[in-house]
Amino acid sequence: MVLRRALVGSRRRGEHNERMALVTAVLHRGVVDSDAPLLCADDLGVLRGDGVFETINVRGGAAFLLSEHLDRMANSARRMEFELPPKAELAELAEQALVAWRERAEGEGALRLVATRGREAGGPPTVYATVDPVPRERILPRRDGLRIATATLGVNADARGDAPWLLGGVKALSYASMMAVTRWAKAQGADDALWVSADGFALEGPTSSLLWLEGDTICTTPTSAGILPGTTSAYLLEQAPKAGLKTAEKLIAVGDLKNAEAAWLSSSVRGVAFITQIDGESVAQRPDITAELDKLAGFEVPS
Ligand code: PLP
Repeated sequence: MVLRRALVGSRRRGEHNERMALVTAVLHRGVVDSDAPLLCADDLGVLRGDGVFETINVRGGAAFLLSEHLDRMANSARRMEFELPPKAELAELAEQALVAWRERAEGEGALRLVATRGREAGGPPTVYATVDPVPRERILPRRDGLRIATATLGVNADARGDAPWLLGGVKALSYASMMAVTRWAKAQGADDALWVSADGFALEGPTSSLLWLEGDTICTTPTSAGILPGTTSAYLLEQAPKAGLKTAEKLIAVGDLKNAEAAWLSSSVRGVAFITQIDGESVAQRPDITAELDKLAGFEVPS
């Protein structure tokens, strides 16, 4: 009954706002009405962005690379010094949300797992999951590519390794500057941003990992540069030998990236998007390698 009400509510709201969560599930409570209030006013996730999250690709009704995302989430919480529920409980929460999703929808979805430090007054973390349909515009870059604007991160590539409070490699809820740089990039006429260190190295997108091609080697940024270790990029590098590609983790100066044989941004929901321009300059493309990467990670390219 609750499910059906939520679905009807979602469809009605969906006419106005496609992004509304279709499914919401709460740890130890299961699936709840997506319109029902969920957080207390003093939740530290809201007050301070003090928590962690994961966004996971859902295809064929299942979460792709769920175990890897749960491991990264646990690492993020450990780095922020708060305790997450055991992995098995989080996996069960994800499955509760996915059962409801499978009853209601087909096609690609985005499963979000959120864990905040909890309430300011203390107590357990606040943990919930949502599953949303992925809007078509989110996956069109798989077909059309992306124009990128570079934006300074303001610190050197090795700064975050020596300063754990900068939370390099942590998927914390505080994504406001990631959203700000994305808006800024769009205002420049680009589709997305690319963080560049103060010493001139291309690092990652605000919500994606950077990949580029050097001969027959697919390269990505090393985690020592404080980037978030991407589950998609890691999977692509792991699978790359199947397509006859070698792999490397290294830094690249932004000038060299502009002259790369091809470059991509990857993430769980967006998939693999080839870069067409950096700061208005065209970047070479390798549609054959793009197709291999899509195939390796099983991303469908929209027509
Ligand atoms: N880097 C950052 C900063 C991100 O926020 C994300 C994903 O949102 C990624 C990289 C890509 O990670 P994944 O492939 O696990 O989605």
